[in-house]
Amino acid sequence: MYNATMTIGGHAVQSQSAASFEVRNPSTGEVIGTAPNATPADLDSAVAAAQAAFTSWSKKSDAELQLACQAAAEKIAAHSEELAVLITQEQGKPLNGLGSRWEMGGASAWASYTCGLSLPMKVLQDNAQGRVELHRKPLGVVGSITPWNFPVMIAIWHVMPALRTGNTVVIKPSPNTPLATLRMVELLNEVLPAGVINCVTGDDQAGSIGAAMAAHSGIRKIVFTGSCATGQKVMQSAALTMKRLTLELGGNDAGIVLPDCDPKAIAEGLFWGSFINNGQTCAAMKRLYVHESIHDDVCEHLVAFARSVPMGDGMAEQSMLGPVQNRMQFDKVARLVADAREKGELLLGGEPGSGLFFPATIVAGLKNGDALVDEEQFGPALPVIRYRDVNDAIRAANDSQNGLGGSVWSRDIDHARQVAGQMECGSVWINKHGAVQPNAPFGGTKSSGFGVEFAEDGMQEYTDQQVIFS
Ligand code: NAD
Repeated sequence: MYNATMTIGGHAVQSQSAASFEVRNPSTGEVIGTAPNATPADLDSAVAAAQAAFTSWSKKSDAELQLACQAAAEKIAAHSEELAVLITQEQGKPLNGLGSRWEMGGASAWASYTCGLSLPMKVLQDNAQGRVELHRKPLGVVGSITPWNFPVMIAIWHVMPALRTGNTVVIKPSPNTPLATLRMVELLNEVLPAGVINCVTGDDQAGSIGAAMAAHSGIRKIVFTGSCATGQKVMQSAALTMKRLTLELGGNDAGIVLPDCDPKAIAEGLFWGSFINNGQTCAAMKRLYVHESIHDDVCEHLVAFARSVPMGDGMAEQSMLGPVQNRMQFDKVARLVADAREKGELLLGGEPGSGLFFPATIVAGLKNGDALVDEEQFGPALPVIRYRDVNDAIRAANDSQNGLGGSVWSRDIDHARQVAGQMECGSVWINKHGAVQPNAPFGGTKSSGFGVEFAEDGMQEYTDQQVIFS
């Protein structure tokens, strides 16, 4: 059992109310630990600790910040395996494949890459008319609110650029997966000054700590990754204190397969582009539009590949897919799949398994307007939609409130790029889907949020600009 504590001002603490909540392993249903149920007073302490630490942290030189963040990145890398096991136990994803070890590889790579970035002062003008300098300054306390699908990697995406630019942080993980984040913050506190990063947890039942963060007058910015509905609430709460916001919200990414593809060659990429982390991935392919000339072949090879992927308890070395993370998510997927079975043709899966295991499900014969196509189902189910004219496919792909990612599959890269440019979303991949990288800005359009993460563009979002004219 992991009876985890929060870290506030460098100290391991329980909630001031002494209340805690249980964390379950979605593979087995067993309680594997507890996390503190923070009170608003705990949040006040965390914000006060972060404010106190900001005074000296924000005055560090760029080189000092880089060095300190490098130590943080090394700490995370050194504890990768321990954190991967925690992720598998609380989140459900397998240790292997595109699972928790892979997540930790990404977290370490992002942490170390971000340390090497900086936002130096820029001279915009220096001539007889005068000198103009652009400086970037840290904001203050950044509040990070994270979801349950990639608990450590997303935390690193928030925390590292915030710290690297001289901010201090209060992070709040999802109540479904608090343990790995609590441990990550504990580890970071072994190498960072007290109060630079603090962690609070809550069960979202008796009032949300996330909502309290979005409204807190001591927090200057919220970086939020989660659902569109919660993102809207964050925006409303943040308005009163004029907080800076980065909102990375839901996606309903489309993939478009052009008629020149080799169905067998793309089957594996299509599968993992959609079913990575059981489809519980913001930028996974959630709708697949396939040209009628190769539709049946693509379905056949996709189903054949899917049948070869073992599902099971994430701790078993052979598992490549785990359970759905929580009951609410499972019920949503089951409802959408039941509806899709009535409207389309079930090619694979479809029947909920035991516990939270839901088999990889592929349904053909659907169209825009069907719930499995229109709603972000965030689970292991893929609707395949037949099209005749690529312009119809582009229109259908764009007919969505979301605009996070998309993909085009073709042997003709120039043609694929041309189609990609017509897709209304923040990232488009060609012959792959969802492969983000630390040197390329990532963010959504439309209801998928605003602001970007990664690279210098992402770092700027943790700063105020100041222009000095002389
Ligand atoms: P969620 O919106 O339910 O919860 C996200 C976080 O918000 C949790 O920590 C939760 O405790 C907190 N929260 C709950 N109520 C709040 C409130 N009123 N104010 C502030 N915070 C509050 O999302 P989830 O179910 O944890 O995650 C799944 C969603 O996240 C999906 O929609 C997925 O697409 C999205 N997501 C997006 C990205 C991206 O980069 N765009 C990445 C991962 C996940």
